[in-house]
Amino acid sequence: MKVKTDTPKHNEFDLLRISLVRKMVLWAGFPYIFQILTLLVFLTLAIIGWGLFPPNGVDDKLFAKTCLTNLTIWGLWWPLMIWGAVLFGRIWCAVCPMELISNFSERFGRTIGIKQKPLSKWLSSGYLIVALYALIQLLVAGVHLHRIPAYTSIFLFTLLTTALFTGLFLKDRAFCRGFCPVGMLLNAYGRGSMLAVRHASDQTCASCRSRDCVLPANRKKLVGRSCPSLLNPAKLNSASDCLVCGQCIKSCTPFNMKLFFRPLFHPADYREPLASWPLTIFIMLVSGFVTYELCTEWEQAKQFFLWMPQRLSLFLDLNTNNGWIQGFWTLFLFPFLLWLFFGAIVKVFERSCSFTTIWRRLALPLVIVISAGHMVKGIAKFVSWVGFLPYAVRDPSGFKTSHQFTSGMVQIPEPIIGHLVVLITGIAVLLISVYFANREFKRTQCELPAYWLLPLYISGTMFLFVVYNW
Ligand code: SF4
Ligand code: SF4
Ligand code: SF4
Repeated sequence: MKVKTDTPKHNEFDLLRISLVRKMVLWAGFPYIFQILTLLVFLTLAIIGWGLFPPNGVDDKLFAKTCLTNLTIWGLWWPLMIWGAVLFGRIWCAVCPMELISNFSERFGRTIGIKQKPLSKWLSSGYLIVALYALIQLLVAGVHLHRIPAYTSIFLFTLLTTALFTGLFLKDRAFCRGFCPVGMLLNAYGRGSMLAVRHASDQTCASCRSRDCVLPANRKKLVGRSCPSLLNPAKLNSASDCLVCGQCIKSCTPFNMKLFFRPLFHPADYREPLASWPLTIFIMLVSGFVTYELCTEWEQAKQFFLWMPQRLSLFLDLNTNNGWIQGFWTLFLFPFLLWLFFGAIVKVFERSCSFTTIWRRLALPLVIVISAGHMVKGIAKFVSWVGFLPYAVRDPSGFKTSHQFTSGMVQIPEPIIGHLVVLITGIAVLLISVYFANREFKRTQCELPAYWLLPLYISGTMFLFVVYNW
């Protein structure tokens, strides 16, 4: 298949110029074959973890590292997905098994005559996604979802089953657009993506008669579908919702759709000055979660962060380490107080501006720093967990290995990268993120005075201070 390769606009490189990439993206099996592989991995991990609880005398954190299910999902896949989202947008979505399941159940539902409904406005707004994300984080804090393989297994099966039923009864990638618990995270973190599906020439689109990239008749195809996410590829100007599935690249017969590689936070992308409410709420929640995650690597910071929930637990006559109270503090109370503080700082100078407007204006620049904090925690976790992989491959349940580690028969693996390297990388990532957040704020809110940037510098300094003391 010959592909027209226009000179890209701006400082972008069209990856489709590379023969191997072009052949892969235009191949009928893309992305299905990769999705089938990730589905097999997910199913295998879910089966391994089914019914597994830490054995007596073994710490659940150690057990999570030795069991292949939890090690792969929470110690390897999750940090890689955070890095992938920030650098390459929704790259994970291109190979995601849940999309595959909902795609095929949607086809099956249609074939057997189920009258599939479009996603309601409320569901597509993202409120449910934010609620599901919060629920997962509460389960992490409350029942140690990330440390108990049996719970992780139920979590994986629940995701796959929900994707299946959503596809059966709702149409147009409904699971991705209204139910996927990581959808909002990918949307928020991936906005500066270096990977972008975009049209190359305005004239080609203007004179295009077939408009295959949006043609409803193409939606049911298996290969070369019109955008299954109901986006308009010819007008795409943001990485927030594009799943990089490549279907529009295949469907566009004038070969005007490209896969660009470009610098982070490309100037040609659209930026919202005011984040939507679900997005703002998500960013507020995740700010608390990431702050706690960074604090866990420095004992004093962790104790400081947990002081309030421990007092709350005592007050309620509960165990001082009650996970639900800690989760409630981390996800709701602490972020609320933090953002109240951010809002108050701006309000000192700008009394007429409401807290809600301040939050919505600050959300998108701030999420750049927050996602960087998440990346830093991700790298610390990844390097200290990945050394357990050979043991988990040999003993997937982790029973034997966890006993050997606990009894001291086998030495616990050291992180694969030294502490200093992680520290320097973390500080560099955070400093770069403050630079980008600052630049993004100026691009979107150029009319606002400099004191609006104070919350951004405060959050950056707070994260840097914690990471510096790791
Ligand atoms: S939105 Fe969620 S379910 Fe859909 S492809 Fe992305 S990660 Fe998978
Ligand atoms: S992207 Fe391709 S199919 Fe869509 S309008 Fe432009 S030229 Fe036509
Ligand atoms: S715009 Fe193209 S690559 Fe993005 S989701 Fe739609 S079809 Fe897939």
